Amino acid sequence: MLGSAAPHLQQATSAETRTIHLRAASWCSDRHTETQQARVDVCCLTSSPGIRLPMRFDGEDEIGGEALFTFTAVEPFCSDPGRRVPHVCLQVADGVWLSPLAPHELSNVIYQLRTRLDELERQVLPQLTVALAEW
Ligand SMILES: [Zn+2]
Repeated sequence: MLGSAAPHLQQATSAETRTIHLRAASWCSDRHTETQQARVDVCCLTSSPGIRLPMRFDGEDEIGGEALFTFTAVEPFCSDPGRRVPHVCLQVADGVWLSPLAPHELSNVIYQLRTRLDELERQVLPQLTVALAEW
């Protein structure tokens, strides 16, 4: 979950440069000090679980899987400017089917999707909005 504290300055170490000064996201408790990662790989991250659904690839056995998983992140040294500020990544499934579904199974899927979409609207969206405002 995202915290309410404002972003804070942090000092981190990497193999590429001995000291990195970064503006850490408010939700990040990672000190980024013992990593062997390059500066471009530094990422302040928090996640929100998705929902488990009886997914299958077309014509294959059920594999199960998670849908609508999100993570909120800041990648302060990324070459993409959109990733240098708080943003959400939403995992959806392409080429994965929920089938065949009986009416009660479809009803259950609809309930899970609606519940998860409500969570995204009531929790993740406001948290992202606040994180960007504080940034
Ligand atoms: Zn961080």
